[in-house]
Amino acid sequence: MRHAGVIFDLDGTLVDSRLDFDAMRAETGCPEGIGLLEYADSLPPGEAQRVHEIVHQHEMAGATAAVWVPGAQAWLRALQADNVPTAILTRNSRPATELTLSRLGIEVEHVLTREDCRPKPDPQGLLMIAAAWGLPCENLVYVGDFLYDLQAARAAGMHAWFYDTGMHPEFGPLADRVIRDFDTLLA
Ligand SMILES: [Mg+2]
Repeated sequence: MRHAGVIFDLDGTLVDSRLDFDAMRAETGCPEGIGLLEYADSLPPGEAQRVHEIVHQHEMAGATAAVWVPGAQAWLRALQADNVPTAILTRNSRPATELTLSRLGIEVEHVLTREDCRPKPDPQGLLMIAAAWGLPCENLVYVGDFLYDLQAARAAGMHAWFYDTGMHPEFGPLADRVIRDFDTLLA
C-alpha cells in the first residue's frame, strides 16, 4: 500500500536506545499507569525538576547507545527513494533526539520533540506535520511501538501502524496494521 507520507516514533520504532523505563520509574518514584512526563507535571516544581533531570540523564545515555531497529533504515531509505515524505514525532527531548539522529545519520523532513508540541497521545504534533506537508491526515501513516502512538494516530485521523517488539502484544488489535519485521515492508 502506498501512502502520501510516513511519520515515525523514534524510540523502539526507528531506533533502540535501550531506555530502561523500569529504572527510570524506580529512580523518579513514578507509579505504573502514568507516563514519566505526566508524572512530572503532577508534582510541585522542585520535584518535577528532579524527575526531568533523571529522565534527561537516561535519555542522553540512551542517545549515546542507540542503534537502528533491524530493517528500519532500509525501509526509511526505500520510502525516501520513492519520494514519500518522512518525519519523526517523539516524546524525547530535543538534545537527546538530535544526538540520536546525528549519531545514526537519520535525516527526515520534520522532527518534532516534546519541546515542540503537546506530548503523545495528544495528536498535536501529527497535525502540525500534516499541515506542514499540506496533506490530508487520512493519507498519512504514523508508526509506533506504544499505546500512545496508536492513540495519537487515531486522534489525528491517520493510519495507526504498530511495530510489535513483543513487549506489548495487547496493543496490536488497536492498530490498522501490525509490523513484526520491517523487512516485510520491502517485499
Ligand atoms: Mg516508542
